[in-house]
Amino acid sequence: MIEVAELPAPTRWRNWAGNQRADVPVVHPGSAEEVAELLVSAAAAGRRVRPIGSGHSFSAVGRPEDVQLVCDRLAGIRAVTEAGLVTVSAGTTLHRLNLELQRRGWSLTNLGDVDRQTVAGALATGTHGTGARFGGLATQVRGLEIVLPSGEVVECDAVRRPELFAAARVGLGALGVVTAVTLQAEPAFALRAVEGPGTLTAAVEGFDELMTSTDHVEFYWFPHTDATLLKCNTRVPVDGLAPLPRWRAVWDDELLANAAFAGVVAAGRRVPALVPPLARLSARALGARTWTDHSHRVFVSRRRVRFLEMEYAVPRETAPHVLAELRRVHEASDWRAAFPVEVRTAAADDIPLSTASGRDTAYIAAHVPAGSDPGCWFGALERLAGEVGGRPHWGKLHGLDAAVLRERYPRFDEVVALRDRLDPAGVLGNAYLDRVLGPGARG
Ligand SMILES: Cc1cc2nc3c(=O)[nH]c(=O)nc-3n(C[C@H](O)[C@H](O)[C@H](O)COP(=O)(O)OP(=O)(O)OC[C@H]3O[C@@H](n4cnc5c(N)ncnc54)[C@H](O)[C@@H]3O)c2cc1C
Repeated sequence: MIEVAELPAPTRWRNWAGNQRADVPVVHPGSAEEVAELLVSAAAAGRRVRPIGSGHSFSAVGRPEDVQLVCDRLAGIRAVTEAGLVTVSAGTTLHRLNLELQRRGWSLTNLGDVDRQTVAGALATGTHGTGARFGGLATQVRGLEIVLPSGEVVECDAVRRPELFAAARVGLGALGVVTAVTLQAEPAFALRAVEGPGTLTAAVEGFDELMTSTDHVEFYWFPHTDATLLKCNTRVPVDGLAPLPRWRAVWDDELLANAAFAGVVAAGRRVPALVPPLARLSARALGARTWTDHSHRVFVSRRRVRFLEMEYAVPRETAPHVLAELRRVHEASDWRAAFPVEVRTAAADDIPLSTASGRDTAYIAAHVPAGSDPGCWFGALERLAGEVGGRPHWGKLHGLDAAVLRERYPRFDEVVALRDRLDPAGVLGNAYLDRVLGPGARG
């Protein structure tokens, strides 16, 4: 039995990037029933509870105010059907899920570029990968088990409680605590990765052709240069694997992409004038390569250099304009941007608070080293994306509030009304949710 009256002493928490912190009691429920007991007793005591996954969000979306509910004991695969429906406890990491699925001959359709997030945490903020024909992770969800703020444990899908299901696939952790997720996997596939240099000029001029040239395309633009690193991944059968030799994987992914890049970032922080020449060096360092491996091994990379990130989802057809403008304002400034700008796409989906809701989407992401001030760089991206109705990633830094977000999501009020009905006392709230969804009845 988990009672708010018997909570442990506060524990210090910080997110992956180190920009969100809290000192609150932490609980680790092992079942939906224990989650329910906690929510009921927190509501009675007027306390707020925030579920947390791996803490990989940059925004304060998961920052607890009174009690933190860590989902690490809600982990593991519950069932996989012959049709590839996999039911997984909500706190399972994508890393573990991918390995278990590979062992059983299944793959997830699309993934972001790291896999340390929990399934529920990744879904809550609309985590996505790239691919003009493919949606984000939430589009693969077929059912959810949720503990509502009232303590009721419910299952929802397209037929049972469809309104809750529609919204809770990207629910910001505001509608209930998800305890299990059913995802549609597909028969295991591999990706043939073709990576190499390109230019921003070519990407802007032929954006649509480039981003639809194969299944999963993304590129990184190195500010201070015209250089890009292009990654084009094509879905192929698993019987023709040609993984990178171990030395090459270590050289490229550990030494160049992580260790050397960490040095570049550190040098740029000490001597900002070095950033432009180092950016040119970084752009040249990552050479061309082609390899084929299990899908999750190609989708996912290691990110050891800590950073802060802002990412905006813009209507796909507006991306060339936004990128050209971002480059123009960057060139007209004296800003030093050591990290590349990442550009991806996703197909339109029907999830109310998905950043790709109702429109084919391009994602544009800017980064700065953890611990530094993003200043005008993030501000420029936010302004330019805002001019075309851009929607911020819920788990990444942005400055928008409910008044602006309501204009950018046609079904925004539907979700807010549902949240107000399910959580009138704001048990699952925090300051971030008060800002982006409005404070609700409690405010
Ligand atoms: C290095 C790095 C790379 C990244 N790459 C990508 C990428 O490629 N694509 C992309 O879209 N994003 C990316 N992100 C962002 C990341 O995927 C999201 O922020 C994601 O939400 C993090 O998952 P998490 O398990 O850490 O969740 P947390 O950050 O711990 O929590 C996120 C939200 O989920 C809620 N939550 C957690 N558990 C539950 C639950 N059981 N029930 C209800 N709500 C819950 C929390 O309350 C919070 O609101 C990246 C982040 C980092 C640090």
